[in-house]
Amino acid sequence: MTVAALRLVVASANPDKAAEIVAILESVPGLELVPRPASARDVEESGDTLIDNARLKARALVEVTGVAAVADDTGLEVDALGGAPGVYSARFAGEHASYADNVAKLLDELEKVGAIAAEQRSASFRCVALVAYPDGSEVSVDGKVTGTITRAPLGESGFGYDPVFAPDGYGGRTFAEMSPAEKHEASHRGKAFGALAARLTAGSDSSRHR
Ligand code: IMP
Repeated sequence: MTVAALRLVVASANPDKAAEIVAILESVPGLELVPRPASARDVEESGDTLIDNARLKARALVEVTGVAAVADDTGLEVDALGGAPGVYSARFAGEHASYADNVAKLLDELEKVGAIAAEQRSASFRCVALVAYPDGSEVSVDGKVTGTITRAPLGESGFGYDPVFAPDGYGGRTFAEMSPAEKHEASHRGKAFGALAARLTAGSDSSRHR
């Protein structure tokens, strides 16, 4: 794949997510990934949608660095909870909730609505990845994976809701029971950033819009 020379700041302040993004994009030829400057402040994710939040995070870094920035925003949508926690996934159990707090609340809420059988615990992860350019234009893509919320956490890898999300087609194993490479192949973020790498390929950059 040929990609036009492009410097991109990875806007994510979450080291778990930044590591996944770098692992997916670093093999793309012509793409130079620039670390987020330590001085950059955290952005309040005040948008109502994943794309709004991805845009807020990417634009904030463009302003600080003057270089194009890539950000993503992810939501876990659980069918039995009417699509919650969705855009509020990071603060499901409260403003400064830990990963473990959010997982515990999710399991609790599913028990409360009587969603016990696997068929009642369907969910999807949705990820929007967005590149914001200094000239005001942008490219965005999304990636989605469907699966099931397990009754208890399983596995030690990954982060966030990984120990309770078993993607369809992987024998019931959770993301936290997979190697990073296996998770990237199956995951919302892997799909979104794979699509982004394709969009950044020379010649297909006409998808940029203001
Ligand atoms: P963010 O707003 O994109 O940082 O993501 C919202 C929340 O979703 C994070 O705090 C994580 O708990 C969760 N999350 C994001 N990506 C993943 C993932 O790949 N696996 C599990 N949980 C994730």
